[in-house]
Amino acid sequence: MNEGSRQGKYVTCVKNIEFHAAHATPVNGTPLLHGHTFVVNVCVEGELTEKHWVIDFTILSNIVKEVIDQEYNFRLLLDRRDASRVKIIAPFDVKITYVDGPPTAESLARDICRSLGEHLLRRGILSNIRACRVTVCEGSNLCAEYVVYFTME
Ligand SMILES: [Zn+2]
Repeated sequence: MNEGSRQGKYVTCVKNIEFHAAHATPVNGTPLLHGHTFVVNVCVEGELTEKHWVIDFTILSNIVKEVIDQEYNFRLLLDRRDASRVKIIAPFDVKITYVDGPPTAESLARDICRSLGEHLLRRGILSNIRACRVTVCEGSNLCAEYVVYFTME
């Protein structure tokens, strides 16, 4: 076996971070407002730091929870193009997060991934990280992933 051609990579993950939200996506072909307990898993790939980890679990977990709490939890997730077409009159508060495109699990995974990248960059802890993979599940078994690869400058 030639070990030189079998280089491994380090991937650090936080899993099973939940948020509750409603979105309007096709159900049996018809757009329908409905809700889920979404489950988010985040993995970052990169080189080990001098602390011998890709990223501190606590830091990654806190960043993911911050993004989820501020932008997704207890929200109505809508396509930005529908912003002027949705009116809600109700005796309760409705917090809306607009998504670029239909608010599918794929779109949410992409947007969460981008937000995480911005948070990591802002905190200056992106230098050893090569990629970020976000999985968003609707319930326990229907999942979509988005992967972003960071380029080093
Ligand atoms: Zn759904």
